[in-house]
Amino acid sequence: MPTAVRICYDSYMLLRNSLHAANSPKAEPIPHRLTLLIGIVVCTLIFIGMLAFIAGQWVEGGIVSGAALVLTAAIVIARRGHAGPAAMLILATLALTDTLLIFTSQGLRDEAVCGVPAILVFAAMFGTRRVFIATLLFFLAALLGITAANVSGWHVNPVTPASWNALLNLSAVLVATAFFVWLIAADLRSALARLASENVRIRESHARIDLLAHHDVLTGLPNRLRAREHFEHSIAQATVGEPSVALMFLDLDNFKDVNDSLGHAAGDLLLSEVARRLQAAMRPSDVVSRHGGDEFLVILSCLDGHDDALASVEKIKAQLAAPFPVQGLALSTTCSIGIARYPDDGADFDVLLKHADMAMYHAKRAGRNTFAFFDASIDGSVLDHLQLVAGIRTALATGQFRLHYQPQFALASGAIIGAEALIRWRHPELGMIPPAKFIAVAERAGLINEIGVWVLNEACRQIKAWQVAGLDQLVVAINLSPVQFRRGNIEQDVLNALDLHQVAPSCLELELTESLFIAEASHLPALLKRLRNMGIRLSIDDFGTGYSNLGYLRRFEVARIKIDQSFIRRMTRNSDDAGIVRAIVQMVHSLNLEAVAEGIEDDETLAALLALGCEGGQGFYWSPALPADEFMAFVGQARAAGGPAPFAGVERDQVPIA
Ligand code: C2E
Ligand code: MG
Ligand code: MG
Repeated sequence: MPTAVRICYDSYMLLRNSLHAANSPKAEPIPHRLTLLIGIVVCTLIFIGMLAFIAGQWVEGGIVSGAALVLTAAIVIARRGHAGPAAMLILATLALTDTLLIFTSQGLRDEAVCGVPAILVFAAMFGTRRVFIATLLFFLAALLGITAANVSGWHVNPVTPASWNALLNLSAVLVATAFFVWLIAADLRSALARLASENVRIRESHARIDLLAHHDVLTGLPNRLRAREHFEHSIAQATVGEPSVALMFLDLDNFKDVNDSLGHAAGDLLLSEVARRLQAAMRPSDVVSRHGGDEFLVILSCLDGHDDALASVEKIKAQLAAPFPVQGLALSTTCSIGIARYPDDGADFDVLLKHADMAMYHAKRAGRNTFAFFDASIDGSVLDHLQLVAGIRTALATGQFRLHYQPQFALASGAIIGAEALIRWRHPELGMIPPAKFIAVAERAGLINEIGVWVLNEACRQIKAWQVAGLDQLVVAINLSPVQFRRGNIEQDVLNALDLHQVAPSCLELELTESLFIAEASHLPALLKRLRNMGIRLSIDDFGTGYSNLGYLRRFEVARIKIDQSFIRRMTRNSDDAGIVRAIVQMVHSLNLEAVAEGIEDDETLAALLALGCEGGQGFYWSPALPADEFMAFVGQARAAGGPAPFAGVERDQVPIA
């Protein structure tokens, strides 16, 4: 139903109900109103009765007094809640009394005739339409009868000259009538006032519904529905043959990290500020809308050509370049943008949206913080991505994942002290797929928890198998995604895996990433403490690449810090990296923690790390990650030889995707 019709209908219903409430004998305020009116009528009748007795008009006085008595009884009835019968009793009494007074007094010239309109008003207020019509007909018939009696001479009413007594009678009737009318007018006024305020309320709620239906609650931006409307309006105005409208699909590059690490409140703040800046970057003719999550749409209308779209991309980048102040941190964010143009890339909103989305994925895969125009070749690459997600599901279901183990060493003694479990995907057609290709996709697709549970179980199963085979005193480190802490039940998963395979918690190390600690999720400290108290070792992976909020190192009592391999690999060639590694090792030692170097590839690096006093290490210098049986053979040989020989082969477990 259109809004205007709806408002008219609502208004009509309200007026009807208000008037019905004023008229209905059953409505709540009526008994009070009724008793008030009867009180006035009874007073009027007593007054008129007294005047009649004083004037020696005994018949009139008797009629009026009798009526006053019946009406007093009606008050009692009304007070007991029987407003309907009371009103009917009053109406009948008043009509009869008035008719009798007209008949017995001066006929059509009597002051009692003035009471007829008041009684009709009373009938209208408290009776139904039928009652009102019946009262009117009754009076018309009564007046007709009295007139006929006078005309025929059967009953002739004497007409006396005006007297003070008659004036008092008339005044009493007029005052009572005026009171009735005033009450009706007051009822009507208050009904109209209520109607007006209800109208305002209805209009406001319609405006709110409209806002909610077409706008995003968080950012206040138009939503996809409004974007579609605007797009259709824009193409209706587009010049034929010109790509005058373009659809931009924009996705923030690091939003998931912010949400996962800082929490949803911080994510919401970031999104609101991004929305504000995007609007500031665009021309008034363009529309920025929120598509959902960290995705925004921009409809660029009145484009002169290709360059206009590029100019808009530059403006968006410039707006997002400044840091975003969120919860006391200065966050930086970038976005990937896909652009599809009308009519070249699609003739309607849905097709353009799909193509702009594909172009955006293409931009993401090209390294993020960039943009891409849609073209036919993009179609295929997006399909690859979707196949990857489907492939991960299949891999989980059909057991295509494997764990490989990279040995970890005590640098000073050269002894193997443990291993890092690293996941591999043995794809039936594509060969071995490294985790860098699918972990981020799995996190985004919500599959990482399932993968994490599998990794935990598989690692525990393998630890037990090695222990049974005589390979003990090895701690196996597994990598955890921050998503597992936010959306999974990591504590229970760990307990289940240890319990199922009868493995001691001290055989397990959990590698956490720095991003987990940027903001302390309220449950994180207690959760990590419980894991630690169980005897599980915690370490920080890829240290130095995340956020430099170092307070967490003390607070969470991690045991080991794994220095990121990007610094280790360059430390012998680059003095900056050497300085960073030295500073990290010193800081780790000052906190009484252990430093572990990742990515040791040569003697020189090993020697430099030994000189710094770094406790542990892993890297291709000794071995890449190995399948479980090869790892066992490697440990056996190393222990038999009294120490491992440096590894001289290629990265055996890293077979590139075909
Ligand atoms: P990471 O935890 O930092 O693992 C170390 C990575 O460095 C491994 O890559 C390892 O093969 C590689 N590496 C070790 N020594 C050397 C070296 O001397 N030189 C070079 N160039 N590389 C070396 P990989 O196995 O490809 O794993 C990459 C990342 O994937 C891991 O980084 C980790 O963050 C993630 N990952 C691996 N397995 C899992 C898993 O089961 N769960 C989760 N959530 N992430 C995983
Ligand atoms: Mg790791
Ligand atoms: Mg690492």
